[in-house]
Amino acid sequence: MEMMILNARIPIWKEEVYYDLVIKEGKIVSADAHEGMQSGGRPFLFDPGLQAAAENTWDVQGAVLLPAFSDIHMHLDKSHSLPFARNVSGTLEEAIESYGRASQFATDENMKARMRKTVLSALAHGTRAIRTHIDFHTRLEEDVTFRGVRMALELRKEFQSIVEIQVFPMLPYYPYDGQDRARIEELLTMDIDGIGGAPHISTEPHDGVRELFRYAVQHNLPLDIHTDESDDPNTNTILTIAEETKRYGYEGRVNVGHLCSLAAMDQEQADHAIRKMKEASLTAVTLPAANLYLQGRGDKGTVRRGVTRIKELRAAGIQTVTASDNVCDPFHPFGRGDLLQIAQLTGYAAHMGGKQDVTDLLHMISDEPAAIIGRKNQGIQAGQKASFVLIQAYSVEELFAALPQTRAVFGNGQWLSVMNTNVSYGLPAANLTI
Ligand SMILES: [Zn+2]
Repeated sequence: MEMMILNARIPIWKEEVYYDLVIKEGKIVSADAHEGMQSGGRPFLFDPGLQAAAENTWDVQGAVLLPAFSDIHMHLDKSHSLPFARNVSGTLEEAIESYGRASQFATDENMKARMRKTVLSALAHGTRAIRTHIDFHTRLEEDVTFRGVRMALELRKEFQSIVEIQVFPMLPYYPYDGQDRARIEELLTMDIDGIGGAPHISTEPHDGVRELFRYAVQHNLPLDIHTDESDDPNTNTILTIAEETKRYGYEGRVNVGHLCSLAAMDQEQADHAIRKMKEASLTAVTLPAANLYLQGRGDKGTVRRGVTRIKELRAAGIQTVTASDNVCDPFHPFGRGDLLQIAQLTGYAAHMGGKQDVTDLLHMISDEPAAIIGRKNQGIQAGQKASFVLIQAYSVEELFAALPQTRAVFGNGQWLSVMNTNVSYGLPAANLTI
């Protein structure tokens, strides 16, 4: 079975040319560039009815094509919980307290329905891989402790080969007693993909980091840690994370998220932390939506943004990407799992709007996060399994200005989702999809 895509714009490669992709048995055979559009092929009209028709030659007429997105930091269990878990103060502290209380009343069905809604929305917007953190409170009813992980593992199975879901339970942030350890041990028998946590909120943050590493190393699992989500420049678990990574030879297996206090540090402290991160080959993810919303709540006047030093990290050679974090919950009341929207927000938060910046932003939601979570065999390079999103935009400027929601997602040898909102942004008639 062969499919061809003619006249695609792939702005993470070269913006001024068009590409033709040849896909055979779900794999990219070739991706050749040419100047000027070629004729031939059936016009690709973002028709929601085309799922069955993978075998064809499609002329996409200059639409933007990108490797399918990887959203490597979400919280599916919490998503869409806002109606029953409010946050009046808008702080991280109240969000944790509010969701912790509300989670005791969630049912399996309720939680799974909310998770599924988020995954389907992410897919429709171009995402084919999600790494989700899942709460794991060991001091609640046993059923409540394990519900999120159980539901996430069931969902992982339900969506396999459509959206890869990686399940990273967050080990508790308090010092552990016997019951905590017994439940953690049970969790570690459950076929999870890695370990998460938020040790910076522990009363013993550095010991908390060491606990996470002990469990991860013992069970040979990668780590993805909520790191220093605080405006306090003295919050610096990042240094212990870098130290432990080197001590256990865990380079390349530790990803850190948030790094808000890195933004609050003075330049000398920040340079030191970035150097240590580089030495330990840490990768990083910024979560600007949640941080713009939660951080700086104690500030008046010039309010700190809480967003980490994205450009400095990238300039230092630390792979730094961007992700959604929370969707419609007490940590972040907005969102739809749309990484293009997050890329735009990252552009605002990090002063990234120049020509190279926007190309970087597209890398930060597509091939780079895919590499961090081990999906190097999926994408749009020859030899990779074809996994891409086509967006009804005909230039990078239009992509970021309009964030068109008319998109088509291809993977696993077929069209997986086509969303057509029939919104015209004043494009030339030839590009309209009526
Ligand atoms: Zn998070």
